[in-house]
Parts: sequence; structure tokens; C-alpha cells
Amino acid sequence: MVQRLTLRRRLSYNTRSNKRRIVRTPGGRLVYQYVKKNPTVPRCGQCKEKLHGITPSRPSERPRMSKRLKTVSRTYGGVLCHSCLRDRIVRAFLIEEQKIVKALKSQREALVKPVKKVVEKKPVKAAAKKPTGKTAGKPGAKAVGKKPAPKGAPKGVVKSKK
Ligand SMILES: [Zn+2]
Repeated sequence: MVQRLTLRRRLSYNTRSNKRRIVRTPGGRLVYQYVKKNPTVPRCGQCKEKLHGITPSRPSERPRMSKRLKTVSRTYGGVLCHSCLRDRIVRAFLIEEQKIVKALKSQREALVKPVKKVVEKKPVKAAAKKPTGKTAGKPGAKAVGKKPAPKGAPKGVVKSKK
């Protein structure tokens, strides 16, 4: 005669979270063993490929796991796969380069035209002299801040994108 089994928890419906299997104990009894849901590995946010180097886990386990098991030590590690990240970095870099090229072009065009008019050169020199004369204590800081602005700004954007 088949042994009758009793549930070991109060939930009696056959739901996804209430799956059981039957196990024979060392004493020869048959007993229900509750089965957990399958742990999964996160996927790349862009191409949906499974991410490497990450241990499969359930959401409830993750707070107890160490960071080493859940991410890869790379920017966007554990979120994007390596190839998608590379694409993004290259794309961001090229966009910034394009911006610099555009800025240079516009600068050259601006320089070529005013050469004929000598009037525009004088106010530029006057404006450059004035701030240095006023703030004698911090002329270096202002000059440094002004010069790398076109180069420095795009670099900051690239870093933030990484
Ligand atoms: Zn990807």
C-alpha cells in the first residue's frame, strides 16, 4: 500500500512557490521536500546575453551574498556585457571627438572672417588684460580654468558615461 504523505507547511495549493518532491528518509518513511525556484543569472541590459562570472541566485539570497559573486570588476560590470560596453565607450568617444572637430571648425571660420576687420581684435586683448589686473592673487587659477574648458568638458562627459 502506498504511504500517504502530509504537507509540512500550511500552504496547500499547488502554486509555483509550493513545489515539492518526495524523498525517502533513512528511517524508510516517505516525506515531502520543498523545492526552491530556479536561481537565474542576470542578462546584459542591451543584448540580453547571459552575463559571465556571476553566480546564479534568487533575489532573496542576494543581500546575503558577497559583492564578488554578484558583479564583475568593470564599469557597468553585472549590467552590460563586455562587447556592449566597448561599443558604448567607443561611440561616446567618437561623438566627443566630433564635437571638438565642430568647435575647431567654427573657431577657424570665426578667425578667418574677422581678420579683415581689425576692430574685433582690440576688445579681445582688452578683455584678457582686465581680469588679470583685477585679481592679482589668482591670475593662474583663472587662466587655467579658462583654457582647458573646451578639452576638459568632453572628457568629463565621457567619464560619466563609463
Ligand atoms: Zn550585451
